[in-house]
Amino acid sequence: MDPLPLTSAPDGIAWPAVPDGSGAAILAILFQLEQTQWWPAERLREAQHRQVAALLDHTWRTVPWYRDRLAKSGYQPGAPFSRDSWSRVPILTRADVVSAGDALLSVMVPASHGGLGEIHTSGSTGRPVRAVRTELWELFWRAFTLRDHLWHRRDLSGKLAVIRESGEGKAPWPDGAVSESWGASSRAVVRTGPCVSLNIRCSTEQQVDWLQRMDPDYLLTHPTVLHGLAAHCLDNGISLPRLKQVETISEILRPGTRSLCEQAWGVPVVDTYSAREAGYLALQCPEHDHYHVQSESVLVEVVGSDGAPVPPGEVGRVVVTPLHNFAMPLIRYEIGDYAAPGDPCSCGRGLPVLRRILGREQNMLCLPGGRRIWPLLSSSDLAGMLRIAPIRQYQFVQKTFETIELRLVTGRPLTDREQTALGNFVRDRFGHPFQVDIVRLDEIPRGATDKYQDFVSEIGGEDAP
Ligand SMILES: [Zn+2]
Repeated sequence: MDPLPLTSAPDGIAWPAVPDGSGAAILAILFQLEQTQWWPAERLREAQHRQVAALLDHTWRTVPWYRDRLAKSGYQPGAPFSRDSWSRVPILTRADVVSAGDALLSVMVPASHGGLGEIHTSGSTGRPVRAVRTELWELFWRAFTLRDHLWHRRDLSGKLAVIRESGEGKAPWPDGAVSESWGASSRAVVRTGPCVSLNIRCSTEQQVDWLQRMDPDYLLTHPTVLHGLAAHCLDNGISLPRLKQVETISEILRPGTRSLCEQAWGVPVVDTYSAREAGYLALQCPEHDHYHVQSESVLVEVVGSDGAPVPPGEVGRVVVTPLHNFAMPLIRYEIGDYAAPGDPCSCGRGLPVLRRILGREQNMLCLPGGRRIWPLLSSSDLAGMLRIAPIRQYQFVQKTFETIELRLVTGRPLTDREQTALGNFVRDRFGHPFQVDIVRLDEIPRGATDKYQDFVSEIGGEDAP
């Protein structure tokens, strides 16, 4: 198989391919990425710091909103990167981004960075953030998409099936939608097989029915959708004979989903960590389940409550600085996720490792007294819960410091004994004598962004009693 079946722009030139302007730029970036991934960590950091210095210089000159913040850190206009001064630059919160509004936009984006495009993203915070990005930023995005294809040895001539947010009424069951290529990221550079897509709001049964008919080589979807699909196929002995690999995006991949997918279809899961406002942050290592920070695109810091970097294995807040978006520079932006850095990877790549990526702060369980804990259920927790009652889908909602609502989709009404046992399970698992209200629903709706969360906190900003 040809790892990159390149497209050629000029008439009559089949080989070697000559890509068009943007295709050539993407390949030029990719050519460098193929080498920089093997650089030692220190060399990567030095190169990255040169780009951060260029970004800070541009930001200082063209985004007045940042001037005070940078001045207080001791930043000198045009100065090379200084670790000391950098660590004093205040962290930019989502609330800062919302309140600053247009003040975060550069008043003079270099013409060579191309036109501007904007997107909105609310994550799971209910605070919509607008991000403005340049065409140049898009080129980088596309180069990293290709890196992911190369890392995970995808056969680009295969059929890709996509179940993701697609907008109300788009790509409906039973047919979904069909396009000729895997998308804009690939099209400029490579020939791909077809891409079929289905609306994420279809039921699991409809999704499975559609997948069986489409018989894809690859599936791209959200982890929670994948979990439902794999469980359904495993229960019903449904195979997807051509499927080679699943790629997950957009939500946190929970423990258990990889092995479920392996059991159901015998294929691996490749996870990606990206954000609309910041680009690719980390891609899964080709040889391990952990992630490599995409240092050529973004400076990622994982910091503790004191703002200092946390050591490998400990969980801290993820703070990102995308290196190439000169339209709306985000300097030390706290994206709202948590992660644990890891030790250097045995694959030989110098790109830093994230061992685990965890969900958003809003979705931590808050105990009276203010302690916050991760409510992630392990696969044995899930198995325990399923032994109690015939649960098809669940969602925990922390309503108050003393109350948890357990929303359930079940095949039949629950007995008193089952409800009592579930209440005890919740109290035991979360380590506090919560009042547990069980609510049966026909379906648990996804949030505004189509992300599904199995734990929702409605008391995010309140002080604990
Ligand atoms: Zn690795």
